[in-house]
Amino acid sequence: MTVHLDEKVAPIYQEVLRRNPGETEFHQAVREVLECLGPVLVKHPEFSHHSIIERICEPERQIIFRVPWQDDKNQVQINRGFRVEFNSALGPYKGGLRFHPSVYLGIIKFLGFEQIFKNSLTGLPIGGGKGGSDFDPKGKSDDEIMRFCQSFMTELYRHIGEHTDVPAGDIGVGGREIGYMYGQYKRITNRYELGVLTGKGLDWGGSLVRTEATGYGAVFFVQEMLKARGESFDGKTCVVSGSGNVAIYTTEKIHQFGGKVVACSDSNGYIYHEKGIDLDLVQQLKEIERRRIKDYCNYHKDAKYVENGNIWAIPCDVAMPSATQNEINGKDAEMLVKNGCIAVGEGANMPTTPEGVRVFLDAKIAYGPSKAANAGGVATSALEMQQNACRDSWTFEHTEKRLHEIMRNIHDLCYETAEEYGTPGNYVNGANIAGFVKVAKAMVAMGLV
Ligand code: GLU
Repeated sequence: MTVHLDEKVAPIYQEVLRRNPGETEFHQAVREVLECLGPVLVKHPEFSHHSIIERICEPERQIIFRVPWQDDKNQVQINRGFRVEFNSALGPYKGGLRFHPSVYLGIIKFLGFEQIFKNSLTGLPIGGGKGGSDFDPKGKSDDEIMRFCQSFMTELYRHIGEHTDVPAGDIGVGGREIGYMYGQYKRITNRYELGVLTGKGLDWGGSLVRTEATGYGAVFFVQEMLKARGESFDGKTCVVSGSGNVAIYTTEKIHQFGGKVVACSDSNGYIYHEKGIDLDLVQQLKEIERRRIKDYCNYHKDAKYVENGNIWAIPCDVAMPSATQNEINGKDAEMLVKNGCIAVGEGANMPTTPEGVRVFLDAKIAYGPSKAANAGGVATSALEMQQNACRDSWTFEHTEKRLHEIMRNIHDLCYETAEEYGTPGNYVNGANIAGFVKVAKAMVAMGLV
């Protein structure tokens, strides 16, 4: 079932479809935001007068470039690089880089579009952007990763800067890749410009808590949603898909809060471990040895590995999709609700299809959409920029406290905005409207640019 688009908004969406053919993920992300904006235009006619929605849907700048690099056999390989600088009304473009074979312009545009509103919700001065490449890091040697990152930055450096555009990591880009890219940026520009990238190493300008931030932040967000319903994580059974950075620190924080994560996954299958996932082992396998999650069962005989299985068939109280876009479809969502799931917090970006979102909203469970629930990562990137700007570094406790406050504020803003617009408990409306209004006001103030 598709939701009706307001008559003022429908032609804008049609124009987005016409102008961006085949970019289905981008269409999906735009549609979800536009579905919420009808009542906003009634309240703020100035947004229509200034064509804010039309402008917000068109990236300010889109950069596509060739990335040539040499593999270990001295063969030349060619990949495609992207940076979409979507909106700079609130600050320099900010958003991660994704290295994954599925990457094409439509993926980068959906992520960049989401980033505009997510970054706005953090309350910090950051605009929205995203980039990446169709490069597949899987199975590549460390040298190949370095050569690829250097080549990628050899083009990207001319488009970024601490006051212009500040990339970070996303799928396939972690501390190692940020290190290689920062090294190349420094060499080409001859500037020790720490604020140009975030997610840096702790010895050279990185921030404590940045590594943990997306996962921790998502759990803080769900904690607030549960609190609003008189619930907590204590004693809850949880399923966290994925086994990368977001999944790992989501699991760690859930365990700290007294919940139990019983399943995690990678793109080949999932692990079910009734006793609770052994996080040290997952970290060892995935972060250090870069192996598959299947190997978990070699160490825990009471755990079960299901190849190509559906992790959402596992009954749980709280589900935290932390792998990738569109990993929960309508049927999965129905299964989760039927099995008693009371809260969903999205660590990944847009992990639920529109049909799945509808199921969660209709069931009136606590559903925290990604642009609100996973904003802790980029928020802590902005804290890293603050520390870089004043040549300071904060303690773990202080930084985590800031992150916690930011997530609480995002929750409250979404909650209150949903109430204000007559849809109590609907965090999708709350996040889209609150995120949009702040950017729109800034755009009106800055005139036609
Ligand atoms: N890739 C992360 C996100 O989706 C973080 C971006 C950043 O830190 O700039 O929000």
